[in-house]
Amino acid sequence: MKLLVLLAVVAGLWWLQRLAQVGRLARQLRQMREAPPRPAPQPMLRCLVCGTQTPASEALQDARGAYCCAAHQAKAAQDALSRPGERKE
Ligand SMILES: [Zn+2]
Repeated sequence: MKLLVLLAVVAGLWWLQRLAQVGRLARQLRQMREAPPRPAPQPMLRCLVCGTQTPASEALQDARGAYCCAAHQAKAAQDALSRPGERKE
C-alpha cells in the first residue's frame, strides 16, 4: 500500500512538472507571436575613401560611388579634381 501511495505522489509531481513545462512553452509561443517583425536586412555599401561599410539608406552616393559621410564625399570630389588625367565616370 505504501508503494502505491509513493507511486501516486511521484506520478502527481511528474504531472505537475509537465503542466508547468507546457505553460512555459505556451507563454514563449505567445511572446514570439506578439513580437514585432524584424526589419528586412539592407545592403551595405563600401565608402570609396575609407572603406567603411555603411547601410545603403545612410550612405551618400554620387556617380563615382558611395561614401560614409559628407567629408569623404567632398574629399573624393577634391581628389578627382586634383587628378584630371584619371578616368572619370
Ligand atoms: Zn569614409
